Amino acid sequence: MKIIKLHDLYFSSFIEKDEIAAIVKNLAWQVKEDLSENEIPIFVGILNGCFLFAADFIRAYQGNCEVSFVKLASYNGTKSTDDVKHLVGINEDLTGRTIIILEDIIDTGSTLQEIYNIFRDKNVKELKIVTLFFKPDVFKKELHINYIGKSIEDKFIVGYGLDYNGLGRNYPAIYQLTNKPTMKN
Ligand code: 5GP
Repeated sequence: MKIIKLHDLYFSSFIEKDEIAAIVKNLAWQVKEDLSENEIPIFVGILNGCFLFAADFIRAYQGNCEVSFVKLASYNGTKSTDDVKHLVGINEDLTGRTIIILEDIIDTGSTLQEIYNIFRDKNVKELKIVTLFFKPDVFKKELHINYIGKSIEDKFIVGYGLDYNGLGRNYPAIYQLTNKPTMKN
């Protein structure tokens, strides 16, 4: 088993890159299957974590599509009590379009709910959610997740775009938080 160290924490190998590739390919196939023949969806990747997943998913998608990336940012309004969340990155008119959100991981669902509400208010034709990883034990929302790559237990993971305090995104496989390894001799 491979162990990596990021900052002060240790992570052990959890999902190999071949398994990830198969999951991503299957998700892209399912999404295509469910769309009508001539539909041209807009895939919207939620940065930062989705950048590798989105790149692989889009290349596996067998059809015409548009691609966009957004980031959920909070800023303080003019009053110190204001805490407004807004999406950075989408400027085009989405009226009547099919939007498919690409998420790396859904945990409690709070982030996704905010993003979902913003898109829902843009007069889109259809709004679907694809997530690579899902933690069912901690998910708290009523939101329907249309496509789930893999459901996992509630343990912190890194790799394949996912980070721990900025590190770990570049690893091609997924690693799971583990205890500090003991020295054996
Ligand atoms: P939620 O709002 O669903 O609780 O959290 C979603 C966000 O938290 C994800 O987009 C991701 O950035 C982060 N997150 C949740 N679980 C994990 C995890 O296991 N590993 C990493 N690296 N980030 C996570």
